[in-house]
Parts: sequence; C-alpha cells; structure tokens
Amino acid sequence: MPYRLTNFAKTALSIFISLLGIPLLIREWVCRNRVAILLYHDVNPEIFAKHIAYLSRHYAIISLDTLVSAIYNKDFSEIPQKSIVITIDDGHAGNVTLLPIFKQYRIYPTIYVCTQIINTHRHFWFRIPERSKKERLKKLPNVERLTRLKQESDFEPKKEYQDRQALNIDEMKKMMQDVDFQPHTQFHPILPHCTETECKQEILGSKVDLEKFLGIECLHFSYPNGDYTEREIEIVKAGGFRSARTTDIGWNNIETSPYKLKAMPISDDAGLIRFRAELTTIPQRFGKWVNSLLWRITN
Ligand SMILES: [Zn+2]
Repeated sequence: MPYRLTNFAKTALSIFISLLGIPLLIREWVCRNRVAILLYHDVNPEIFAKHIAYLSRHYAIISLDTLVSAIYNKDFSEIPQKSIVITIDDGHAGNVTLLPIFKQYRIYPTIYVCTQIINTHRHFWFRIPERSKKERLKKLPNVERLTRLKQESDFEPKKEYQDRQALNIDEMKKMMQDVDFQPHTQFHPILPHCTETECKQEILGSKVDLEKFLGIECLHFSYPNGDYTEREIEIVKAGGFRSARTTDIGWNNIETSPYKLKAMPISDDAGLIRFRAELTTIPQRFGKWVNSLLWRITN
C-alpha cells in the first residue's frame, strides 16, 4: 500500500512539475554541460518508443563510451549540448523487443547483464513478488539473504525454472551491432554485503563470462541495486574496467568520477508526463525520501 501511495504521489507530482515548466528549465539550463545517464530495466517497446521519440527531438543520444572517454580526456567539446546516454540493467528477456527502436533511431544503448543468468532459465532473485520482503533481503549479509530466499520463497540462484527471464546468447548476438553489452555481476548480489572473495568473483567473474560469451572486451560495469563502497570501486578499477555506473541520482560532468557515474532511474511504465518529470530527477528524489521515511517508521 505505501508503495502504491508513493506511486500515486509521484504521478501527481509529475503533473505539478510539468505545469510549472520545470522540465524545460532543467533541460535548457542544467543539461547544457552535463550528461544524464538514463536507467531502464524491463521497459516495453511501446513506452520506450515514445520516450526515445521525445528524446530524439530534444536531446542528443550518445553512447556511454563517448561520455566516459570525454571524462577521461577532461574534454567535453565533442559532447553535444543536452546529451543523454541510455542504459538498461539486468538483461531482461524482454529487452530484445527494443532492438527495432535502437535501429530506427540509430542509438547505441548499454545493457548491463547478469552473466550467470543470461542464456539460462535461472531467475533474478529480486523478481520474487513480495516487495517489502525484497527490501528487507537487500539489507542482509549475502549468505543470509540466500538462506532466507530458499526458506521463504523456495528460490535458488542456480535452479533452472520453466520460464526464461533473461536474454539468451542468440538474442544478444543478434543485438550486438546495436547494443553495448557490459557486465552487471554474475547473480546480482548486494555487493557491499558480500565477502571480499564473493565480491571479486561476482565482479571479475562477470567480466570473464561476458567476454567469453560474446568475444568482446568489457570495460564498463554497473553496481547491482546501485550499492557500492570504496572496496567495490577498488575491485572494479583493478579488474580493468574503465567505468562503473551507480544509481546515485544526478547528472555527469567533466569532474564526475568514472567509477561513480550518476544515473537517472526512469520508471519502466512512465507515460510522457511522468517521463518528462523524471528527467528533472524531482520524482525520483521525492520517492527516495518517502521510501526512507517509511522504512524508518515501519522498522
Ligand atoms: Zn540490476
């Protein structure tokens, strides 16, 4: 119920933000020398097509690699004004239906995949139905999270289920020309709650997996659930990655650390009014604040 309430409040807030003309103000002032990295998960093609059509009219859609290189070179002169990078997390099976849109608009999004879930019938642990349980599990040490998942939801990371939740390699090979595939760990644990050995295996193992699957070099990483500490940054750096994307809300500029790239989480079901409001980051910041408030009240 609190979640639905938050959702309703976010929609109302989006309408309010639009009426005030804030999306236009942010686009024309904040986005001049800053780049937003949008973050999707399992968006359907009809909604995504509307978002991209809107973006292509008002923004320049650039690749992640272009942004990361500009940050390393400390030179944004080649970055168009009002640039946006598209990223999609996890490697959900439905992502393949977005391919015609990538082609139509000639965009080159980054899809970060869990390398031990793609090409299998294993499931994403966070897709268990109970939202409140999921939020609690995210706060537990890794071993305890897995024990509880088994006990309470009969979930096992390596169990092969009937239905497939993630992309398979055939689909990914078909998409490769239009998609920059990068690793997002092997099984999507909450990295700061892992032991150092687990953490290294999840980060570095996912790089080795994906490079072997697709025969490419992987240089960009994204932290599951956006959770990271200095330890994760060090492992990612030492492992040969050039960048890592967080879910810290905000824009990126020439000063942004390539291992703490900021993001703009977009609701997979956002209509255009909500989408335009989310490009200001106000609904996401509001949602985060409400959720932490509710968490404090209920725990
Ligand atoms: Zn994820």
